[in-house]
Amino acid sequence: MSKIVVVGGGAAGMLASIIAARNGHQVVLFEKNEKLGKKLYITGKGRCNITNACDVEELFNNILTNKKFMYSSIYGFTNHDMMDMLSECGLKIKTERGNRVFPDSDKSSDVIAVLQKTMKKYGVEINLDTQVLKITSDEGRVTGVVVKKGKETLNVSADSVIVATGGVSYPTTGSTGDGHTFAKELGHNVTELLPGLVPFNTKEEWVKELQGLSLKNVEVSVFCDNKEIYNEFGEMLFTHFGVSGPVILSASSYIKSDMLKKKLTMTIDLKPAMSEEQLGQRVLRETEANVNKAWKNVIENFIPKKMVPVMLDKIGIPGDKKMNSITKEERMRIVAALKKLEITIVGLRGFNEAIITRGGVATKEINPTTMESKLVKGLYFAGEVLDVDAVTGGFNLQIAWSTAYAAGISVE
Ligand SMILES: Cc1cc2nc3c(=O)[nH]c(=O)nc-3n(C[C@H](O)[C@H](O)[C@H](O)COP(=O)(O)OP(=O)(O)OC[C@H]3O[C@@H](n4cnc5c(N)ncnc54)[C@H](O)[C@@H]3O)c2cc1C
Repeated sequence: MSKIVVVGGGAAGMLASIIAARNGHQVVLFEKNEKLGKKLYITGKGRCNITNACDVEELFNNILTNKKFMYSSIYGFTNHDMMDMLSECGLKIKTERGNRVFPDSDKSSDVIAVLQKTMKKYGVEINLDTQVLKITSDEGRVTGVVVKKGKETLNVSADSVIVATGGVSYPTTGSTGDGHTFAKELGHNVTELLPGLVPFNTKEEWVKELQGLSLKNVEVSVFCDNKEIYNEFGEMLFTHFGVSGPVILSASSYIKSDMLKKKLTMTIDLKPAMSEEQLGQRVLRETEANVNKAWKNVIENFIPKKMVPVMLDKIGIPGDKKMNSITKEERMRIVAALKKLEITIVGLRGFNEAIITRGGVATKEINPTTMESKLVKGLYFAGEVLDVDAVTGGFNLQIAWSTAYAAGISVE
């Protein structure tokens, strides 16, 4: 039996502690917050999208950074293994649209409760309100941690330490990058940190005028220096700073840091089910059917009412102009605006609003099967602290579960 210290009581820390304790080790977990799983609590809008029930191979298509690094740990503990484990621990789960898995109760607190109950069952010692300040090592081997509880600072010895401190997004949940500091202090590289799954700040004033408007079934394309880097159908939202919503959050993960210095634009196709030609014919039909109507009344047949003033302005045809005097060139302008509504992206929102952190402890310095550092013996990393990230749909939590399992089962 070895003594294992787990740093962080989020998704990865809780699971890693269960697996190590179930394997017969003495496990001590330190969490700086007053309770476990503060970030887990707010996942999936309070419902917790635990994982994705897709085929295991499909998981890799949804991992954006360092997917190869994840092969071993995912095959070692798959999405289906996690679902089975939660069920065995007494959590009822359900699968929704897009294979997204949620607790049957729709309450993330039930996921936390079941993990906490299982930690107690295997005898994990849980220390709340306790911050790990430093990881100690000697001659390339971990020796323990220094913790702060209230005014007291203590040295705690350990045979192995699992760092599961998360990234730097939503720092109020406790993820403040401590694990990156520990990793650097112990000689590791930490790759550049960027907000991931985050809305865009945009330039045009008209975008902000549309705040609160949500567009369903549109096609969004993002371009860097006019080269397409992302294209997806789905839902998006206008806000007081720019654009958000599922398609935009996903698009943000494709914007690399060097691209932020280049020209970034996006286009919205408001009528993706029709080709330009088909839309042109539809506009012509509307023109012929409404000869005496003002153009500003006919445009409502194509777009949400809230968009009308903005689109009239962009297309540049006076709203009172009768349909029978709309020219062919004007019809082409209408089609172009509906198919390619262009917006300038001026940046990503910050870490406070980012669902995940892109970047983290360099995976080339970590053994992908065990999550042990290649530089310091007995030092393990799990979860978002690592340089791995995925799109939305339960895939980021699966990264936390699989890497936590690998670390928990491998510690000695
Ligand atoms: C709003 C929001 C919604 C999300 N929804 C989903 C979703 O539905 N599905 C999904 O797959 N992913 C979702 N995610 C992402 C997911 O929450 C994270 O990927 C996941 O929580 C990472 O787990 P982790 O254990 O690595 O880190 P965290 O959950 O961040 O846990 C790290 C823990 O370590 C503690 N800690 C940090 N430093 C120290 C220290 N020095 N000493 C002691 N303790 C420390 C922190 O307090 C924290 O409790 C969401 C994220 C956000 C912000």
